[in-house]
Amino acid sequence: MTDLLSMSREEICAWIKDLGYPAFRGQQIHAWLIRGADIDEMTNIPLKLREELHALMQPPPRIDMCVKSQLDDTEKFLYRLYDGNLIEGVLMRYKHGNTLCLSTQVGCRMGCAFCASTLEGCVRSLSAGEMLGQIVAVNRHMGEGRVNNVVLMGSGEPFDNYDNVMRFLRLMSSEDGLNMSLRGVSLSTCGLVPQMLRFADEGLPVTLSVSLHAPNDEIRRKIMRVAQRYTIDEVMAAARHYVSRTGRRVIFEYAMIGDLNCEPRHADELASRLRHLQCHVNLIPLNEIKEKDALKAPTPAQVQRFMTQLERRNISVTRRREMGDDIQGACGQLRRHVLSEKTEPITPS
Ligand code: SAH
Repeated sequence: MTDLLSMSREEICAWIKDLGYPAFRGQQIHAWLIRGADIDEMTNIPLKLREELHALMQPPPRIDMCVKSQLDDTEKFLYRLYDGNLIEGVLMRYKHGNTLCLSTQVGCRMGCAFCASTLEGCVRSLSAGEMLGQIVAVNRHMGEGRVNNVVLMGSGEPFDNYDNVMRFLRLMSSEDGLNMSLRGVSLSTCGLVPQMLRFADEGLPVTLSVSLHAPNDEIRRKIMRVAQRYTIDEVMAAARHYVSRTGRRVIFEYAMIGDLNCEPRHADELASRLRHLQCHVNLIPLNEIKEKDALKAPTPAQVQRFMTQLERRNISVTRRREMGDDIQGACGQLRRHVLSEKTEPITPS
């Protein structure tokens, strides 16, 4: 099966020519595909070619389930891939536009202690077209409006699927494709240092987010397996390189976990590490998952104290807005819910 959504318009035209049709059919098919049309809707395509497409084309991801928050306008999607695998995504509507959180792999093999996406390891990586297909499906689902910004913060480690993610970024921003701005893209990594260094040289104006989650290696190693491989000093050096090559600030994500990393002294230690680095800290109070019930969310007072302490040290910091709290908005929880045997229907509370 051919994964047409992973191909550029020219590549589809070349493929169509090889099938024995004129190249302009490729342009037509490409235009339909990026609008999320089904093959049967491609009314300007001859029936015989449509039949061939049914036989040859890998079906794009489709939305299998959709839950809308009643607290805000957040929507959560479960997509089914051509091989039956499930991934999830979240659409957040802000005043400045619609942001879609995309998955880059089915599951994840990074093994972070607090994350639901990694509990069963990585099933497989997504193709560029399967990433693009998430945007295409949601654009179509929305009808009015479209996805403006993308965060690569769904399941998977983007830098563990480096080449497909780069291809996706080039496809989504290509003028004859979705023509989206890369300035509206944030890529989040758990801190794979060699890929961070390589990414700095790609010349793409994407915001790099790094999941730090700890002020020192000792704490980081308790919750992130990747910390056995790379020290915080190495992660910081790669972040500095990114800033110097791109001129863009780096975002550090910091999941706050009660009794582990949210004391004022941890804020001080973090601030010392970040001094003189063009960066921003995004605090995420831990989203508790039932499989990891020893890891607890911090109290609101702890979050406030931590934030104040960083501000005192002149670190730019915000607390991530929690959206879609009633629809299991976070991190692999909807997929797990659906995959678990005792599936109860999810209804927004
Ligand atoms: N693999 C990438 C993308 C992961 S998801 C990365 O590690 O950065 C985006 C963010 O959510 C990461 O910072 C991740 O560490 C964080 N996260 C995962 N599970 C969480 C949870 N239960 N509570 C709070 N943050 C979580």
